[in-house]
Parts: sequence; C-alpha cells; structure tokens
Amino acid sequence: MTAHLPPTLLFPHPVIPAPGRVIEVAPGVLWLRMPLPFALDHINLWLLADKIDGVEGWTAIDCGYGNDATRALWETHFAGTFAGLPLLRVVATHYHPDHMGNAAWLLGHCVGGDPLLWTTQSEFHTAHLVWNQLVQYRMEDNAVFFRRHGMPLDAERHQAGRGNLYRIAVPELPQQYRRITGGSVLSIGGREWETIIGLGHAPEHASFHCRALNVLISGDMLLPKISTNVSVWASDPEGDPLRLFLDSIVRYTDLPDDTLVLPSHGLPFIGIRSRVVALADHHAARLAELLAAASALVTAYDMLPVLFRRPLDVQQQFFAMGESIAHLNHLWHHGRMQRAVGIDGVVRFSSVPHQE
Ligand SMILES: [Zn+2]
Repeated sequence: MTAHLPPTLLFPHPVIPAPGRVIEVAPGVLWLRMPLPFALDHINLWLLADKIDGVEGWTAIDCGYGNDATRALWETHFAGTFAGLPLLRVVATHYHPDHMGNAAWLLGHCVGGDPLLWTTQSEFHTAHLVWNQLVQYRMEDNAVFFRRHGMPLDAERHQAGRGNLYRIAVPELPQQYRRITGGSVLSIGGREWETIIGLGHAPEHASFHCRALNVLISGDMLLPKISTNVSVWASDPEGDPLRLFLDSIVRYTDLPDDTLVLPSHGLPFIGIRSRVVALADHHAARLAELLAAASALVTAYDMLPVLFRRPLDVQQQFFAMGESIAHLNHLWHHGRMQRAVGIDGVVRFSSVPHQE
C-alpha cells in the first residue's frame, strides 16, 4: 500500500545523493541511492566505514537490484567513494530483490574481510525457496491462492502469474551465509550495531541500531512516507502478518525518539514515535473501512477498490491481493470478521455484527 501520511517528522538530510555519489549522514555512515525498475523508483543503501583484522574498508548494508544499472553505479562507487579501500563485508536486511539482488556479485568484489553474506536464517532460506521455486513459493501458487480469494484468473492474469521474477532481479544467490539473530551485535568500524528483528514484511527482517551514533538502519520496517507492504502469500494462507508487523514496529518506540532513522525508501528521518502511531492509525482506518464494506459476504478481490483508491494494473493487483488478504485475515483472527469457503471454493468474509 502506498497511502501518503501526514508529515510529522523531521528530515535532517533533505537533499538526496546523486547517482554514484554519497552523503555522510553520521560519522562513517554513507548514504547512497540505487535506481529500481518499478514504481518504488529507488532504494537507499548504506556504506559503513569498517576495519576487519586490521584492514580498513567498507561494509555494505543491502545490495540493490541485480541489474546492469545498479552494478554500473557500484563500479562508480568502487572507483570513487571507496577511496582505494576494499569492500570487506555485505549485510542484507531481508531477501527482497532490491535488498539481496547483488549480494553474490558484491561478495565477489570483497577483498579479504568476511566474504559470507550476513543475514538472518529465514531471509537466507526464503531467498533460496523463491529463487528455486520450491513448495508454495512459486508465482503460480500465489495466482491459484489469489483465485481462491476471488481474483479472476483470466488469460492476462494467468500470464502475469507465471515465471520467476525473483531470479531476474537476483541473478545469483550466495550459497552460504553468516547467521545473525535478534540481539546479535555487529561490530562495524569499532562501533556496536544491535540487530532488531521485525516480522510481517519479510520472514525475519533485520534492522540495526547503533546507540553510540543514535542511528537506526530500519530497512523496510519503518519508512517515512509509504506504509510497508504487509501481505499474505500462498505458503502461509491463514497467517496474520499485519499483527506481526504492528507488534514489531512498536518495539522501535523503545529507542530514543531523536534517533536518526535510515530507511530503505524515502529520506532519513527523526520521529520514530509519531511514525509508529501514524502507521498504526493508517492500518486501523483501513480495517474500519473493510468492516464497513463487508456487511455482506465479500472476497479479498472485491475489497481492492476499498483499500486502493486508484486503478491497478494486473501486476499491481498481485501485490494488492496479498495486502487485502492480510487485512481480512487480521480481522478474522480478531473475531471481527467471519470467514467462509463457498461450494465454488472461494473464500469470503463478512463483518461480525457488534454485540450490544
Ligand atoms: Zn522489502
């Protein structure tokens, strides 16, 4: 979902880095941007000054989409930004292609340092499940799943639901990794970065908090302008990722409110608490609209115009369906919706009338 929310945040770095250039947003923390070939437009990556086994160099947090445009920009950074120092380490917040797309390629450019991808176990595993199209991790499985939730599977949608888009964006994946877990502390350039796990957007998304710098690298878990995608997919059809997401973002409010947040999309910002409140309000409003719209039986497909007040192309409908089911499942798990499977095999929901 990409609803825009009220601006209650501070943006201390309002100018974005030009392609191939960087902006230092905290001591030893460089902000770079890479293009994305879809509506999201860009991803922010972070380069941290590091030192491993006495060798000075850089640690990359996230990798960019695995295409020629991003790799050409990385080459520009190797030749300029890196100031003659090597890439020592690669960290991925989660498995999505704009974050892990170049992980294997970047590791191939590490000199010394630590040539294993640092990420969480679920993110590493899920990357391989999707890349290898195993069990219920194929696009076709999601197409069948979305048809059960009312999406017509006509020829156009059938075509859109085929192929392995992930492998296009992630041409190769690291075959091994170095596991990080919640609370893992990464020592980067002599400073400690604590891992905070977030759920609901990806299976085991890692954010990193440096108390000494008062900086949080939030990845996709906390974005300043758009609400993070929270979807149900075929592999976990009755899940409640919205509950997981809302519970996860509350944890960030334990951090100092003047923390500088470095998100994967949008501008660095200050104002964790107001952002978390705005996101909770945003989802509460969407849930209330669904409850009002579902007085009679509805499908997740029927609810797309309620959640997304703009035309969606077929590709966007696939992602919108995941979000629609996430909101309906959430209401169902909380006793606010009933769920029934019709003799046509289609899942439908209806609001539970208020008990007086
Ligand atoms: Zn993501």
